[in-house]
Amino acid sequence: MYRIGFGFDTHKLELNRDFWLGGLLIPSAKGAVGHSDADVLLHAICDALLGASGLRDIGTQFPDTDPQYKGIDSKILLTKVYDLITENHFEIVNLDTTLCLEMPKLSPFVPEIQQSISALLHILPGQVSIKAKTSEKLGFIGREEGVSAYCVVLLAIKNN
Ligand code: MG
Repeated sequence: MYRIGFGFDTHKLELNRDFWLGGLLIPSAKGAVGHSDADVLLHAICDALLGASGLRDIGTQFPDTDPQYKGIDSKILLTKVYDLITENHFEIVNLDTTLCLEMPKLSPFVPEIQQSISALLHILPGQVSIKAKTSEKLGFIGREEGVSAYCVVLLAIKNN
């Protein structure tokens, strides 16, 4: 038995902010703004995992009105989500993600992001696909005002 999940997230970009993506600090003139560390990729992955396992979404599990999550490292959130899906007898088959942003170019960082996410989810880097693309200068992404991430995940229900 399998369950598919989909996640999406967007964050605003501002100058002189840390830019966390997939658990990595990326050298960049601009960084993402949010209640947590604003790691848009980890948030999309959390939502895909929660959606696939019927556990609602990141905002339900970790409300941004709760001060304990202010500025929180999103790697902690993803670890909590991993624990939740494991307790609910799911295991990850694979996940496929797309990041949409104009700058910086991410291809040099993709292997390290794959390593970071696969380690957090106790799977192999080959089970984690990271794609990055621009929006051809169109819209808020094209104007470098924001960044978006999409994730699809496949979970298997464990027999034991
Ligand atoms: Mg978010």
